[in-house]
Amino acid sequence: MTAISVDLLISARWTIPVIPKGKVFENCSVAIDQGNIVAILPTAEATRKYIAREQVELPQHALIPGLINAHSHAAMTLLRGYADDQPLQTWLEKYIWPAEGQWVSEDFVRDGTELAIAEMIRSGTSCFSDMYFFPDCAADVASHAGIRSQIAFPVFDFPSAWGRGPDDYIHKGLQLRDDYKDRDLIRIAFGPHAPYTLSNGPLETIATYAEELDSCVQIHLHETAKEVADSLSEHGMRPIQRLVKLGLISPLAQCVHMTQVDEQDIATLMEHNAHVIHCPESNLKLASGFCPVKTLLDSGINVALGTDGAASNNNLDMFGEMSTAALVAKAVSGDAGAVDAHTALQMATINGAKAMGWDDQIGSIEIGKSADLAAVALGTIESEPLYNPASQLVYTNAGSRVSHLWVNGAALMVERQLQTINEQEVLIKARQWQRKIAHGN
Ligand SMILES: [Zn+2]
Repeated sequence: MTAISVDLLISARWTIPVIPKGKVFENCSVAIDQGNIVAILPTAEATRKYIAREQVELPQHALIPGLINAHSHAAMTLLRGYADDQPLQTWLEKYIWPAEGQWVSEDFVRDGTELAIAEMIRSGTSCFSDMYFFPDCAADVASHAGIRSQIAFPVFDFPSAWGRGPDDYIHKGLQLRDDYKDRDLIRIAFGPHAPYTLSNGPLETIATYAEELDSCVQIHLHETAKEVADSLSEHGMRPIQRLVKLGLISPLAQCVHMTQVDEQDIATLMEHNAHVIHCPESNLKLASGFCPVKTLLDSGINVALGTDGAASNNNLDMFGEMSTAALVAKAVSGDAGAVDAHTALQMATINGAKAMGWDDQIGSIEIGKSADLAAVALGTIESEPLYNPASQLVYTNAGSRVSHLWVNGAALMVERQLQTINEQEVLIKARQWQRKIAHGN
């Protein structure tokens, strides 16, 4: 038998493919050619069957699908720790929006997004969703870094450094969508900020375009009790009902937060096959409330996971987010069995892919899918003794032990060394921004 040549063969002690759920393969190899997974087989067999241009041995590592951060504001990483310990409305109105008004520019977004991507790669994220001003700059930085992304361009009623108002935002966003239509790693989505920052007109326009273009829509929804109460008094209905009336709740909808959920809201999410993006650390930090994840999952609703911006988290580590999601789900439901380690891994991988309509290509280690993979070095003090690799990944702060990351078969990190981003330059720029922002000029 002649050996088949492939680009890359990764042999890991443990492989957790996510699909099928709960499976852990030992001493398996993943063969990759032209960016795609072509085989998953025992390492002994793989070394006979394949000749790889590059071979990576991971003797004490777990290989998993790259994590998918389904909600972030990457450039806000420059405001990490700028304003802590405030409730959402005060945090936004007194601190974040004024700082953004003063500082947000193309350079701010480029430097902040690069810092965020460096952090995400270092903690095993191969795909992220972004929602921020100057999405063209974020898309450009993501493209150079080689990371996969959904760039949801923001739409508000009010003007910003990036645009004059809703029509201008939508116009620019559609142009961006056109510019990136042939790119494999970047998808442009609509990012109407929230029901309370948008009037009916632009929301309806977005619903029409999204349906016509089959494009995802990401929106902050039911983040706080105040948002729901204000909507009841202003519009006579809960925010999600208002969005249903405007045509925005559909399988294309990614509803971020959903901490305030009643039975009717669950029925609405089910009826329209809408997705929920759960951001537990941001919700905890801003004291926004608790998303009833177990109830949503039990109802068959797809729940993905996001970090939200680093200004309200304050990190972009999806391993930490998995742990928090699992712990909070148990506390909220009073059920220690809620969101076990494999469910948390699903939420951080395949569920994010489903929310973005990308599950045909990413979110699991399966033949035919893109080789978006992360390796985590176990066998350290923090992860021994090892009875169950999935448990170590979710419950032991494994983010800092990510050793390798690939997107579409290309290495973005090898032995914790970034391959596409200059770490020193990123650090220098972050410190320059800190000095400017702290001094207010
Ligand atoms: Zn957010």
